[in-house]
Amino acid sequence: MRIFKIGEKAWLLRVGRQEKHVECPDCLGTKRLRFIPADGEEVLLECRGCQSGFYGAQGTVRTWDCSAIVEEILIQGVETEMDELGGAVACGYKYNMQGSCANIARPEYLFETKDEADLAGILATKRENEAELKRAMCKTKDHKSWAWHVSYHRGEIRDAKKRIEYAEEQLGYALVAAEKAKKKWITST
Ligand SMILES: [Zn+2]
Repeated sequence: MRIFKIGEKAWLLRVGRQEKHVECPDCLGTKRLRFIPADGEEVLLECRGCQSGFYGAQGTVRTWDCSAIVEEILIQGVETEMDELGGAVACGYKYNMQGSCANIARPEYLFETKDEADLAGILATKRENEAELKRAMCKTKDHKSWAWHVSYHRGEIRDAKKRIEYAEEQLGYALVAAEKAKKKWITST
């Protein structure tokens, strides 16, 4: 790593991140997932891969886009720390000083030429973007949790069906009773 002195110019690489949204890898933007359990009865579930708290499935997942910014800076101060041999090594370079405030550039992001900084920027953003894309595209929730939701919702449906059947049954009795009462009333008048 090149050592810079106060008053020298250097090229600083900054790697910026910008938020972006990409299609959910689980539901492909549809917000729904189809499950066909062993008995073949299809179940449609809200996608958990792109669920966002109370807002539900979004159809997209958040990711980051990295970009490199290279700028020339004037070194106005050097922060040092002691190495294992007792010597002083630069651990940060101050620039854009305003009074006692300054920005600090780490030595590994400072380069002597713009070409070197640009090349380091290309490599760094490529690496970061690939890693981020891999992270965003991996399936976000494990299958156990999907399966739990399938059985939970199917259980709810079964319970709801039972309640409907019971209600229909009760309604049937009520209608028969009403019919009987009506007939009784007609015959007695
Ligand atoms: Zn999704």
